[in-house]
Amino acid sequence: MSAPPCPRCGRELEPLPVHHTRNRWGGGPPRPRSELWWTCPAGDWLGWQNPNGGPLHTMRLWPGNCPFCGEDDTTWVGEPWQREDGEWRDWVVCLDCGTSNPRRIPPPATP
Ligand SMILES: [Zn+2]
Ligand SMILES: [Zn+2]
Repeated sequence: MSAPPCPRCGRELEPLPVHHTRNRWGGGPPRPRSELWWTCPAGDWLGWQNPNGGPLHTMRLWPGNCPFCGEDDTTWVGEPWQREDGEWRDWVVCLDCGTSNPRRIPPPATP
């Protein structure tokens, strides 16, 4: 499979392995997350893609410590979306420990 181009600068993205390293019942080895993660060699973009292909989803760095493993600046947050019942959600994932968590968030301000 060939790497997609960076949405920002057009360079070829590099695969970024992300593994679950916490809450492994039975003590097995780290499992790769189900998404494909990509990072730009220029350092201007990071995101993920469905393993079957499809659009790239941009992630933003979430400042501070990972709430799960405590590492600094390893937590990334996705674009907010609105559910059918009107509530807003976003999604954070730590690229160090591989833990992700959906969050309920206030509606974005409408201009
Ligand atoms: Zn780039
Ligand atoms: Zn973590």
